[in-house]
Parts: sequence; C-alpha cells; structure tokens
Amino acid sequence: MFQKNQLLTLTIEDISDTGEGIGHADGITVFVKNAVPGDTCEVRILKAKKTYAFGKTERLIRPSAGRTEPLCPVAARCGGCQLSFMNYQEQLRLKQKKVQDCITRIGGFTDVTVEPIIGMDDPHAYRNKGQFPAGRAADGTPVLGFYAGRTHRIIPTEACGMLWPGHERILQAVREYLAASGAEPYDEETGRGLIRHVLMRKGFATGETVVCLVVNGTKIPVPEMLWEKLNKIPGVVGLCLNVNREKTNVILGDRLIPLFGKASVTDRIGDISFEISPMAFYQVNPVQTKVLYEKALAFAGLTGKETVWDLYCGIGTISLFLAKHAKHVYGVEIIPEAIENAKANAAANGIGNASFYVGAAEDVFPELTGKNPDIGADVIVVDPPRKGCDEVLLSTMLKMAPSRIVYVSCDPATLARDLKILCAGGYRIERVQPVDQFPGSVHVETVCLLSNIH
Ligand code: SAH
Repeated sequence: MFQKNQLLTLTIEDISDTGEGIGHADGITVFVKNAVPGDTCEVRILKAKKTYAFGKTERLIRPSAGRTEPLCPVAARCGGCQLSFMNYQEQLRLKQKKVQDCITRIGGFTDVTVEPIIGMDDPHAYRNKGQFPAGRAADGTPVLGFYAGRTHRIIPTEACGMLWPGHERILQAVREYLAASGAEPYDEETGRGLIRHVLMRKGFATGETVVCLVVNGTKIPVPEMLWEKLNKIPGVVGLCLNVNREKTNVILGDRLIPLFGKASVTDRIGDISFEISPMAFYQVNPVQTKVLYEKALAFAGLTGKETVWDLYCGIGTISLFLAKHAKHVYGVEIIPEAIENAKANAAANGIGNASFYVGAAEDVFPELTGKNPDIGADVIVVDPPRKGCDEVLLSTMLKMAPSRIVYVSCDPATLARDLKILCAGGYRIERVQPVDQFPGSVHVETVCLLSNIH
C-alpha cells in the first residue's frame, strides 16, 4: 500500500470512465486527475487504499502526444471537463472506443461495428446552459463557480470556456447582487442559506437568455436590484426562481416562480421553434443536436404513414422533428412543465399530428396502448436519461413489435444492456452512430437503429 504524499513515477496507460488517467505501480491501480494516456509523470499520492490509489500529477516527465494545454484557466481544478488536457482527436478516439467496448463487452455483440463518431469543428463555447453553485470563499465573499471533481468544494469561476461568450456578465451581475443584497448562499453541510444555484440558458438561434436562481425558499431580497443588472445584459429576457428546499444534491426543485420577463427561452432547431422552461431538459449543444436529430430522423425511415412513439420526449424536440414525416407522433415525458412546452411547441409550429402525455414512459406507454389497441407503433424512439430504459418499458416495446426502434442514448453502458434485451426479443442492430455532444467531458451520445427481424 502506498502512503499519502508519496511520490512515484507512473506511465498513464488508460483512462477511467470518469476521465482520470490510469497507471499501475507495484500491482496497485493509480487514478490520476488531468493525466492523459501516454504521459509519464511524477505523481503525488493523495489517497491510498489496498488495491488502488488516487494521485495528482506533480511534474510531467514526458507528455503524451495526445495532450493539449486547455484554454480554460480553471481547467486543472474544475470537475466539469474531465478531458480538458486531452486534445480533441484523442477525446473522439476515446469516446469511439468507449461505445465500441460497451457494445461488444456489455451487449455481447461481437459482430457490430460502431460508425465513426461525429465530432465538432470547434469544440469550444458550445453549451447553451450553465449551472453554477453559490457559496462563500474563505474570506466570506460570496462566490459562484463549479464543483471540483469528486467533491462539493466550489472552485470560483468567472467564466466557463464551454459556455457562450457573454455568460460571464450574468455571473458578474449575480455576484454583485449577492454581495450588495446580503442574500445568503446556501450551505450544503448545514442546509441553511438561500441561494443554491444560478442557472442560465440561452437559445442560440434567437439569443434569448433566461436566468433562474435555485433557492431554498420562495423569495429573494430586493429582486429588482438583480433584475436591473440582468436586464442590461444583451439577450437576457427573464429572471425566475426555482424552489428547492430539500437537503439533496439534485439541483432543481419542482416549483418555478417567474419574477421578471419571460420564464421560458425560445430556440430553433432546423425550422422548428421551441419554448423551453428552466425545468425542462433540452440538449446542451445546439450544433450537434441538429446532427443527432437528423440521424434519428434518417434512422426512423419515415414515409408519412407511420405511427411513431417518442418516449422520454422532453419538450417534444424529437417528436416535432419527426411529426412532419409521420402520420402521428405520441410523446411521453415525466416532467409536467416539459409536456406543457411540448404541447405549446406543437401548436406554435402548426403541427397537428403530435399528442403529448405526462407520466413515466413505463406506465403511460403500456396503459395507452393497452386501452387503445388500434393505435399501434410502427416506429419507437426512446431517449432515456443515463440509467437507460425501464424493463417494463422494454418488454412493452417488444410486445408492440414496431418495425424499427431508434434508441438515442447518453450512456453507452446502459444502451448496450438494453440492446441485449431488445435483440433477445427479436431485433437486430443496424446502425450505431456516436455523436459528440459534450466535447471536453467523458460523456458521449449515441443513436442506434434496430430493426424487427420477425
Ligand atoms: N428527447 C428529449 C429529452 C431527452 S432527455 C430531447 O432530446 O430533448 C430524457 C428525458 O426523459 C428528460 O426530459 C426526463 O425528464 C425524462 N424522463 C426521465 N425519466 C422518465 C420516465 N421514467 N418516463 C418518461 N420520461 C422520463
């Protein structure tokens, strides 16, 4: 076993699921933050266990060819972008391998070749949403920032290299407001304090930006002081509160209180416009979202005659993308505000052949198709959160036996697990296409086409 603070020379051989470099010494696996496969470095042990240890790079002895200098000044400390020190080509190679490994090892599909990942031309400043926790610096000044990796220690951040240029003015305005108003940042340890997170989202196609403070309460002191500052920032159209009084690390609570201006942002993808509540999920990378949805549309193979289900539909983005090419689209989503947006979005775009239902997909889909056997399903699209699809949902999908299933996934491991179940039930994998929605991070999106072999 190593000792804390011990120094050792290590060659980084691989990378973990959470983005740490992996090396071995004396039979012990060492995880090293901000290290890249191919680096040889002097590592200081931070935490030692019997079979593994965590360390940090003290000195780079020989850098890997895959290494780069991050543009972001807080990259070394911030836990947001785990791959900041890896050049973009290497990041893409890593994600490609991750998807292929999951398909082969977890799914057991030894004859499926994953298609080359679609990356970005410019993998910076792509995000349309930021969420910054509030806290206090050692000297008591209110700070906004990001969590350091593996901890809830806040790294004060003036700007994030992945967000749009100009977002730093919002952070500055909120910081000034916190200092001047005396509004207390929330303390995770004690559960006391008011301001938990600052959330901001911008519609890249419209420029509209909404700021939402997540608060442990229902009011903030002198809200007009904050609005006066925010209102001067180009693009900012609204300020609202989200109420989260739970002692939890889930960011959002379930109540929204509009304060000034609009509570939702409008954005466009292709020729469809969307209203997006701060409570609703919306893809964070508009450039790659269009690529992803176009792939989903192509995989769906619609001719205008199909009944399509879009399960885990959010604000109806994929549903409306597909509706123009289908007979009817049914969307199901668990967040009520997202479904309100979805219905309004269908109406605003003059799309009459899409219906939306609130509830868990695993409850609503069996119930509706059970009650109305005539509805049927020619194509099913699923786009679940990282934990993947519910088993009841998978078995209902098999029972409905659509010709094609389009599975959009943000976690290749649960994708592979679910594909195994669907393929055992009579489907064949036709295409597996990774799309890089999250440059800088370890995450990867994949869209997969399955066809019914019966
Ligand atoms: N397809 C949408 C949203 C995908 S994100 C888009 O591309 O924008 C996954 C969505 O699943 C989120 O909106 C989340 O709120 C929703 N969700 C999570 N669990 C669910 C469940 N059990 N049933 C239905 N929707 C669920």
